[in-house]
Amino acid sequence: ISRSPLKEQKLVNLNEGSKASNKSLDRKHWILQQRRSLPIASVERRLVDEVRKNDTIIIVGETGSGKTTQLPQYLFNAGFCRDGKVIGITQPRRVAAVTVAKRVAEECDVQLGQKVGYAIRFEDATSTSTRIKYMTDGLLLREALLDPILSRYSVIIVDEAHERTVHTDVLLGLLKKVQDARLKQHKLDKPYINNVVKFDNECHSSNMKFSPLKLIIMSASLDAKGFSEYFCGAKAVYVQGRQYPVDILYTYHPEPDYVDATLITIFKIHLDDSPGDILAFLTGQEEIELVDMLVHERLKQLPELSRNILTVPIYSSLPSEQQMNVFRPTPSNFRKVILATNIAETSVTIPGVKYVIDPGVVKSRYYNPVTGMESLIIMPISKAQALQRSGRAGREGPGKCFRLYPESEFWKLIDSTVPEIKRCSLSNVVLQLKGLGFDDIIGFDFMDKPSRSSIKQSLQELYLLGALTDDCKLSDPVGIQMTRFPLDPIYSKALILAGEFKCLEEMLIVVAMLSVESIFYSPREKLEEARSAWKKFSSPDGDHLTLVTIFRAAVEYREKIRAATNKEKAIDKSLSRWCRDNFINNRSLKHALDVHSQIKVYLKQMDMALSSCGDDVLQFRRCLTASFFLNAAEKQPDGSYRVKANGQKVQIHPSSVLFRTKPECIIFTELIQTNQIYVRNISRAWMPELSKYYDVES
Ligand code: ADP
Ligand code: MG
Repeated sequence: ISRSPLKEQKLVNLNEGSKASNKSLDRKHWILQQRRSLPIASVERRLVDEVRKNDTIIIVGETGSGKTTQLPQYLFNAGFCRDGKVIGITQPRRVAAVTVAKRVAEECDVQLGQKVGYAIRFEDATSTSTRIKYMTDGLLLREALLDPILSRYSVIIVDEAHERTVHTDVLLGLLKKVQDARLKQHKLDKPYINNVVKFDNECHSSNMKFSPLKLIIMSASLDAKGFSEYFCGAKAVYVQGRQYPVDILYTYHPEPDYVDATLITIFKIHLDDSPGDILAFLTGQEEIELVDMLVHERLKQLPELSRNILTVPIYSSLPSEQQMNVFRPTPSNFRKVILATNIAETSVTIPGVKYVIDPGVVKSRYYNPVTGMESLIIMPISKAQALQRSGRAGREGPGKCFRLYPESEFWKLIDSTVPEIKRCSLSNVVLQLKGLGFDDIIGFDFMDKPSRSSIKQSLQELYLLGALTDDCKLSDPVGIQMTRFPLDPIYSKALILAGEFKCLEEMLIVVAMLSVESIFYSPREKLEEARSAWKKFSSPDGDHLTLVTIFRAAVEYREKIRAATNKEKAIDKSLSRWCRDNFINNRSLKHALDVHSQIKVYLKQMDMALSSCGDDVLQFRRCLTASFFLNAAEKQPDGSYRVKANGQKVQIHPSSVLFRTKPECIIFTELIQTNQIYVRNISRAWMPELSKYYDVES
């Protein structure tokens, strides 16, 4: 008997359908089991009780015990979202907010953006029905600008507080005030009258009654004392973790090249050790992509049977749709190698890891209080970080951690990382606090006070940018407008100025392109080919206009493809091919395109028209000079440059299109510190504009 092909197809589809639903049932069951076996599950009731009894508590628990994914669900089930209130969980890192929200949505069996959602800068996956909301700490600070008492939230969980990012620290200070204000109002049983924080008039003029705000500080570091003292003796609760023994191995001598040492270690484990995934800590996107490429290159030299390695990157600016790849189960017979930044230290826990490779370094913000300039530098981690990293190997069974430095070096590491607020520029913090109505920055209740001199530096910088008035108040409209942009103050100012200079379209592209780590893809063995591919984009005026050209070429190409097909996947694929042909980093370009469209939304909300200067390059250079005059540098007889604002000696980075030209005066937008101090992303300054800010010798 022959069946018609159509029927047969239907039959197959039906079968697939039932397989799929079986599979999803299996997965649900598996997830439920996983949840139940987490260490935190056995103390659910006690935790909920503690939160009921105390307005502020500190929860300390080992990484992977289930704090981030489970506690919000416990509180939801215990009725903390009654009356439509929301439980907010803040994360220092966007990737953590996104991946955890996706996981929790799956655990709750709801669509992301419904009951469970997330919001990060430039991306909002929440709706009016969202009750469990993961977000970055920076985002909650921005929400406070519009709703100073965070009236939507019944509970706020400040997660990963041990990281002590500058946003976390500011948020802690703010939440203390918000909590006081809500409590006072609650006791008085009167509409809230603000005397602490600035108020948004319409939002709170009604006679709403606010419940007290529950505050939970979660940390993976065992030292809860600092938080407890800061929150007037708040109770600390410990959640017991589960940790198997981890063998720690050191090198005999310091490794001169940790990237190479990482590669060697990956292959040594792969060839000599038992099955189990590898987690390697690297410092950033560029390094991760380099190692990724080198692993694949070296794999080719192995016999076919040993090529069963699967690499997965994870870092902050990785496009959202690729972030979840690290959580995919490793195919049998394969070894997964996770190439991560310190995001995998405590923020996200990836199952299956048995081996950890720790080169002992991290990329951090570093602020030089003398010059007032901030740069990113690669520096040694702390002991606490080294312990967290090795701990990742012992979650599911005994593991091994390869520290790529001698044991003597470990003992020289500082105990714990210095809070970021003590080593970063405070301009953003000061602007935000001013926006929130805190005028006395030096008097603000910081957990660790930043130095007076760095606060003063930032006040001065903001004054020079026109954000503050003579008496240190937020200026109207510039300062107020600047608080609305989710950008560093100098970039917000650049956009505002570009509106006036009629080159906002170009500046918006520049800001979006500068928000990614590296737009160029430069494989070692094809460097010459790459350089000649980039030549067609390069502008004699500098890197900024070069970036504009690349962005426009990519968009033009995308639109051409779009005219032929409306399938997003096909468009994506073509664009990746275009990137590959032009040696442009596809992931970075995608991120820049995203950021571009998101900032555009802000500009629209602020009624700023997207004007273009067309071919009038001078106009753009004028605007760039006016925006970044603080970053102007002048050529010295020896070919180096001197930053005009502070005398700092710098070199042009070899990647700049102006590396050989060496103009007399440049504007830069990035400072990188290795063995030398380099400036990257450079344009020729426009002297008549610069002379408005400095005495320029003719
Ligand atoms: P903690 O916050 O205490 O460090 P988490 O709540 O983040 O712990 O993690 C609990 C468990 O959930 C871990 O076993 C982790 O591997 C798992 N998990 C978290 N996010 C995901 C995800 N996106 N996919 C799969 N498992 C996840
Ligand atoms: Mg966590």
